[in-house]
Amino acid sequence: MTWEPVIGLEIHVQLKTRTKMFCRCPVGFGAGENTQTCPVCLGHPGALPVPNGRAIEWTLALGLALGCEIAPRAVFARKNYFYPDLPKGYQISQYDLPSCVKGSVILPTSEGDRVIGIVRAHLEEDAAKTTHRGGRSGRIGGADYSLVDFNRGGTPLVEIVTAPDLRSAEEAKRFLQLLRQTIVELGVSDAEMEKGTLRVDANVSVRPAGSDELRTRCELKNMNSFTFVARGIEAEVARQVAVWEAGGEVVQETYDFDAATGSLTARRAKEEADDYRYFSEPDLVPVEPPAELVERLRAGLPELPAARIRRLERELDLDRAVVLVTGGLDRLWEQTVAAGAEPLPAANVIANALVGSGADPAAVPPAELAKLVRARDRVPRQAFDEALARLGEPGFSADPYLAEEAVSDASALGPIVERILAANPGQVAAYRGGKEGLLGFFVGQVMKETQGKANPRAVNELVREKLAAGA
Ligand code: ADP
Ligand code: MG
Ligand code: ZN
Repeated sequence: MTWEPVIGLEIHVQLKTRTKMFCRCPVGFGAGENTQTCPVCLGHPGALPVPNGRAIEWTLALGLALGCEIAPRAVFARKNYFYPDLPKGYQISQYDLPSCVKGSVILPTSEGDRVIGIVRAHLEEDAAKTTHRGGRSGRIGGADYSLVDFNRGGTPLVEIVTAPDLRSAEEAKRFLQLLRQTIVELGVSDAEMEKGTLRVDANVSVRPAGSDELRTRCELKNMNSFTFVARGIEAEVARQVAVWEAGGEVVQETYDFDAATGSLTARRAKEEADDYRYFSEPDLVPVEPPAELVERLRAGLPELPAARIRRLERELDLDRAVVLVTGGLDRLWEQTVAAGAEPLPAANVIANALVGSGADPAAVPPAELAKLVRARDRVPRQAFDEALARLGEPGFSADPYLAEEAVSDASALGPIVERILAANPGQVAAYRGGKEGLLGFFVGQVMKETQGKANPRAVNELVREKLAAGA
């Protein structure tokens, strides 16, 4: 039987507001532990929350970017549970009346657009950060002691819940790349998984391909890159398929994915018991955004990444369009093309060479980049690479590099090629015996000999000619 993965994601996004969700403590990394706290975020009795207006506006903007309806009335609730990183004994979170509902995101794929439903996006406050010391890979099990840093406690968080509409690990990864780029472009979060400002839980089940049933799902946590999310999903899909095929039943459970070993570890069920006794937060009024505000936020949305991918795809291809857009490089590409570079070479230079050179794309002058792209075949490679690395420097001009002509004259290159062939008789024989992959080796040697000043295309032709001639 063929099995089809069914995946829904729950994503937490830490907003980069200046201050926390319900108090005026600063939000940010790097400050000394427990220096950014006050009676409100430490949960002292009698302290009262005051909502952060910007966090609410950003949540609505994000919801609109995800195609959501904005609730005319959303309500904060108390989610009660005990944990040392939650000093109030409850987390304030939107619950049955969230701010953003019923959205959808277009996911461009090679088989056309896929529509991924967004069930909800709601606003809540983050818990403090607990660090377990002395145990296995930072987990609580086996730890000697734990430390709590309350600086993170009370940071605004948006939780986004997708419908179970994703059908592969690869698709989940693409979705996350697109979502992340959207969040970054809205300017509401840095959305960096390594820093924990973007956190992803994946719900996974499998079903016979073609059926529309929803079988029991498991949840994966603790994956700190998109690649690990994809690998975790693949491991879980394989595990569930094996369970069903062996005649067993998948049991709902939460797993930690250990990227180092690729293994899944079930969490203790005790941590799962979730009777949160929600009730509406008596210290806060409902969120009732005026229609003018919602329309202003809607009008202020930039053209979204998915739409730009579709637009770029007409001139490039899907993969290149995705790389440019999710890398935040498509504006530079458009400006470079507008400045006279051909679309495909410009995309290749930007997505490969420029990114590899370490230059800051935002600081690159498109007109100078366009000149380089146009001259890429005649400028010596070394000069080209150096120019790319310097593109981001203030006042950069491509002209001095363009003045360097690559050596493509056969009379100059011929003797060098012959010398290289003579010095490598073994490789020459192997090439003539069918190992054509060695061509790159000879070209590389010639490039080295000419200190990168030769035109690679001319060298290629010449080497091929001479090898064929002597065969
Ligand atoms: P709960 O209320 O228990 O958190 P939800 O219905 O809110 O459950 O779903 C949580 C997440 O799990 C969502 O992202 C949803 O898409 C996903 N999900 C629900 N059912 C399935 C399933 N059978 N297979 C995979 N994912 C699922
Ligand atoms: Mg849930
Ligand atoms: Zn505070």
